[in-house]
Amino acid sequence: MYFASDNAGPAHPRVIEALAAANDGYAMPYGVDASMERVRDRLREIFEAPEASVHLVATGTAANALALACMTRPWETVFCTRMAHIEEDECGAPEFYTGGAKLTLVDAPDGMMTPDTLAAAVDPLMGRAVHNVQPGPVSLTTVTERGSVYPLDRIAAVADAARARGLKVHLDGARFANACAALGCTPAELSWRAGIDALSFGGTKNGLLGVEAVIFFDPAVAREFELRRKRGGHLFSKHRYLSAQMEAYLADDLWLTMARSANAACARLVAGLSRLDHVTLLHPADANIVFCRFPRALHRRAHEAGAAFYSLDPIEGEGDARARLVCDWSASDENTDRFLSLLA
Ligand SMILES: *Cc1c(COP(=O)(O)O)cnc(C)c1O
Repeated sequence: MYFASDNAGPAHPRVIEALAAANDGYAMPYGVDASMERVRDRLREIFEAPEASVHLVATGTAANALALACMTRPWETVFCTRMAHIEEDECGAPEFYTGGAKLTLVDAPDGMMTPDTLAAAVDPLMGRAVHNVQPGPVSLTTVTERGSVYPLDRIAAVADAARARGLKVHLDGARFANACAALGCTPAELSWRAGIDALSFGGTKNGLLGVEAVIFFDPAVAREFELRRKRGGHLFSKHRYLSAQMEAYLADDLWLTMARSANAACARLVAGLSRLDHVTLLHPADANIVFCRFPRALHRRAHEAGAAFYSLDPIEGEGDARARLVCDWSASDENTDRFLSLLA
């Protein structure tokens, strides 16, 4: 009964097999391996973006921070939500890699900005004197840190509002696959067609050992990214082992198959939770993350029975506490049903 996070799940066996297959003989280092060539071609094909520049790093923090560094001058500010991973969970890496750019927090009900909340944050900074930070890029996340998925027209509306002000848009897609599967849209629709300039395309949360792709739809940024990745210590020498994971991920749409499994597991969990009167769902659970609230006594019972999940409030005493539950590609119906029966 493991619902703590999707990065706690195993890597897919086909990814491990691909690594074993890659572990044969010699391959050129630093991203000029033949497998990287295929990964680049395949991602360009999947995203219908023949010019896009594609780079691999081992963590989502590196993907976000290095991508944003290429889009932000040190005296600018990045617009994101209060709960954004870049704000809450990256130990200041975006500020560090941008050379000290600020983050400005945008209101976001259910984790999603609107064109109006973005405008309310950006407009007071437009045309300001040298005393103020200057407006920089907007960074969105989908699946959001609250488990919701931006509808495509909502991303496009926010990106339009950004573009109207001359700002670029980055998408933190640590769970891009889950969002894409939830929307049933194409990768292009969830990125450049909706106005996204740069994408962190996640793999680790969805069945890889540790690889994320950074994709720039404007290839002019490629060289700067390459330099920043090396300077930041994130260029892998034995790069073929990153490429091999990503190649296996893309082959036969394994990335989407795994995301659909995770989302289906979460839908089963949500359906079960919503049948329980004493459980309240807190945000739209559009993909593979659900936030809910239920009696503290049941938190204790579930934890004691071995369920792993984050209780977001103290669980001693009476009353409700909030929980965050995440499903990964390997989640089984049997474990979900066991968990639900503990809460029933
Ligand atoms: C997990 C996650 C990341 C990447 O985190 P790392 O631990 O650096 O790999 C980025 N953004 C979001 C929204 C995440 O959930």
